[in-house]
Amino acid sequence: PGDAGDPAGRAVLDRFAEAVTGLRDDLTALDQLVGDGDFGDNLLGGVRRAQALNGAADGGVEALSRAFLDEVGGTSGPLFGLLFQQLTAVSWPQEGTPDASGAAEAAAAGLAAVQRVGGAEVGDGTLVDALAPAARALGEAARDGSETPFTAAAEAAARGAADTADLTPRRGRASYVGERAVGVPDPGALGVALLFAALAQVYEP
Ligand code: ADP
Ligand code: MG
Ligand code: MG
Repeated sequence: PGDAGDPAGRAVLDRFAEAVTGLRDDLTALDQLVGDGDFGDNLLGGVRRAQALNGAADGGVEALSRAFLDEVGGTSGPLFGLLFQQLTAVSWPQEGTPDASGAAEAAAAGLAAVQRVGGAEVGDGTLVDALAPAARALGEAARDGSETPFTAAAEAAARGAADTADLTPRRGRASYVGERAVGVPDPGALGVALLFAALAQVYEP
């Protein structure tokens, strides 16, 4: 079992970082269409800073929280930071699986924090449209005693993110683009979907 700083203890962070690295250019391109084009770099910068912190054996979630809250700019820095901060309430074990009910509660708390600060509702075409269904799916899967709660959450997040393409953004920079953003999925929502995909890959491979 890894001690603090053991890279094997930060599987969630490393899996998320791998996904973000691979999709950085696409996330940048989407934010160029509906925002200011920095989202790919904001997200990648955050995960790299988290990796540089070489955090404790908690999946790397604590390091993500600190990196995004303290060092990442843009709107996504503090909002992802608040989500990660709530997710630190969960034990993300190096072996075995996290408690799904606890994870669902933490995701719901993360959603509440994001909404309190950002003011976005479901349907406003933001990362809330991936996070809210993911938190709900995780809660339902936990209640049902599902074997694959994180896969359910990842699927719900991916669907929610894809569906933002049909929405007219009402929050953040994309709201300035308004109806011209229809057809473009929200990059922040895709970023949240990558996070839940990473959790599913680490704990339900
Ligand atoms: P910025 O506009 O500051 O450059 P980023 O590029 O870092 O922001 O992040 C953009 C993402 O932030 C969007 O794709 C969207 O998902 C999310 N976002 C923007 N405003 C809000 C808000 N008020 N509530 C929730 N999410 C938001
Ligand atoms: Mg941006
Ligand atoms: Mg910006």
